[in-house]
Amino acid sequence: MEKHASKRRIGLMGGTFDPIHFGHLVTAEEARVQFSLERVIFIPNRHPPLKDPREVTDPEHRYLMTVLATVGNPYFTVSRIEIDRPGPSYTIDTLRAFLQIYPDADLFFITGADALLQILRGMWHGARELLQMCQFIAASRPGYILDREQLERNNLTGNDLRNVHAMTIPALAISSTDIRERVRQGRPIKYLVPEPVEDYIFKHGLYRPKAAGEGEGG
Ligand code: NAP
Repeated sequence: MEKHASKRRIGLMGGTFDPIHFGHLVTAEEARVQFSLERVIFIPNRHPPLKDPREVTDPEHRYLMTVLATVGNPYFTVSRIEIDRPGPSYTIDTLRAFLQIYPDADLFFITGADALLQILRGMWHGARELLQMCQFIAASRPGYILDREQLERNNLTGNDLRNVHAMTIPALAISSTDIRERVRQGRPIKYLVPEPVEDYIFKHGLYRPKAAGEGEGG
């Protein structure tokens, strides 16, 4: 009998990563192992479509921190695809590009549970099409229940949810918002982000209040 090679399985880890932290890294590694992914490609966005770009840190800083954080894992790489694409970073454009690069692969888009609920509520560009283009892995913090019933209740797209998976990640008790707030208040972020990311944040003066007349950190 003819033996068919199994399809490649590639993880795409989408986020703003402002900054990247151990919760994101644990999520990517857990998804890689649970879903047998051959690699996970981190995709920091340039302009998160539902946020004011003035409220997020310069994309190059977020990109470089992502590179620093992932360099030690042989299964992780970082893509500049969204960083280099002008305008809002619509995930559908990114998925189309990756489907051209890997036409025969199963793609798994890994992101936060809130983002997945936004897709199901139809808030993203091309939400219905997105759910047919790849599989989604939604990661949530402990205490954030994302069960089948909740997914179905939030699903306004009319798509079936066979491509949607949920994972609870205890390490996601760490959040980028909390890290930014800690830096602003002069509290430690050691053991919440990889050391090179911590060094980068302090070297470039990210997330600290700007003194009067001071420009952007960088
Ligand atoms: P967000 O709203 O800042 O994050 C929502 C929650 O998910 C936060 O708790 C966040 O934690 C967590 N999270 C975000 N990315 C994660 C990841 N990769 N793994 C685990 N947890 C994650 O979300 P965002 O970062 O701006 O956007 C998430 C992704 O959706 C990005 O790739 C973005 O470009 C895409 N997106 C696309 C559209 C569109 O195409 N129309 C619209 C919105 C978002 P932290 O704050 O700790 O990260």
